[in-house]
Amino acid sequence: MTARILDGKAIAAALRAEVAARVARLAFQPGLAVVLVGDDPASAVYVRNKDRAAQLAGIAVRTIRLAAAASQLDLLGVIAGLNADPEVDAILVQLPLPPQMGARAVLEAVDPAKDVDGFHPLNVGRLAEGGAKLAPCTPRGVMKLLAAADVSLTGVRALVLGRSQIVGRPVAAMLLAANATVTIAHSRTRDLAAECRRAEVLVACVGQPEMVQGDWIAEGAAVIDVGINRLADGRLVGDCATTECAAHAGVITPVPGGVGPMTIACLLENTLLAAQARRG
Ligand code: NAP
Repeated sequence: MTARILDGKAIAAALRAEVAARVARLAFQPGLAVVLVGDDPASAVYVRNKDRAAQLAGIAVRTIRLAAAASQLDLLGVIAGLNADPEVDAILVQLPLPPQMGARAVLEAVDPAKDVDGFHPLNVGRLAEGGAKLAPCTPRGVMKLLAAADVSLTGVRALVLGRSQIVGRPVAAMLLAANATVTIAHSRTRDLAAECRRAEVLVACVGQPEMVQGDWIAEGAAVIDVGINRLADGRLVGDCATTECAAHAGVITPVPGGVGPMTIACLLENTLLAAQARRG
């Protein structure tokens, strides 16, 4: 079997256009605040892309920059201001934060109603219960890609490879809510290859370049590759050896051009949802 390659760029572009059309019909302009601490070049690029995409969708976006040496108190003060600001519907704190910031305390300080990344414990708990208004953007992108590929989830065996708070666990919760039979694998899992071979849906989010081999993939499986890994030669690759996996999968996402573009599109949609919930 040769897999269908899912065009994440096109699916994300359609979602962005839909969000822009819905924003244009509102009587108000949704507001997104992005907080960037320090000068990590990758974070700066992500924030610039988010800023541009939000503006194109008609969202008022404000980027607040703090120096790497700023204190946790400085950052908590910024967040308190954004929580109280009626023009701000959604707050995104770009991760990773410098160690002195204490990311957990910072994420807990964001108003759950404005928590556009879905990282506040209240939203994490709601997702675990099976329903969340604001769920993390990358996992939402994974679910939208599966829907766009017409992958039926009820009763299927799904394997999530990776158990991070921001990708693996929320993806697993969403697959479970969609009635899949979910297994979560991680660095302590015995015989990963065998676990993968049982999966009808495989979501790889390990951050290990091309770790998932072609013969780990069940014939016809749907493979969503969340990984973004830069090799020494500058190339970007996913967590799956795409060409080899595509020889067995029914459908697979490329890297780049798969999950990545969906994350930003889902951020825009979450901003719209937060704005509508807050302003009625
Ligand atoms: P993370 O926090 O480092 O978590 C990685 C997970 O993979 C952990 O649960 C870890 O297991 C597991 N793992 C690592 N090495 C493994 C191995 N050799 N065998 C089995 N399991 C292993 O990473 P993350 O933040 O979830 O990100 C994962 C990947 O997705 C990265 O490449 C990241 O760049 C990418 N990403 C992409 C987007 C996007 O928009 N496309 C967004 C976010 C992240 P333990 O828990 O046992 O340590």
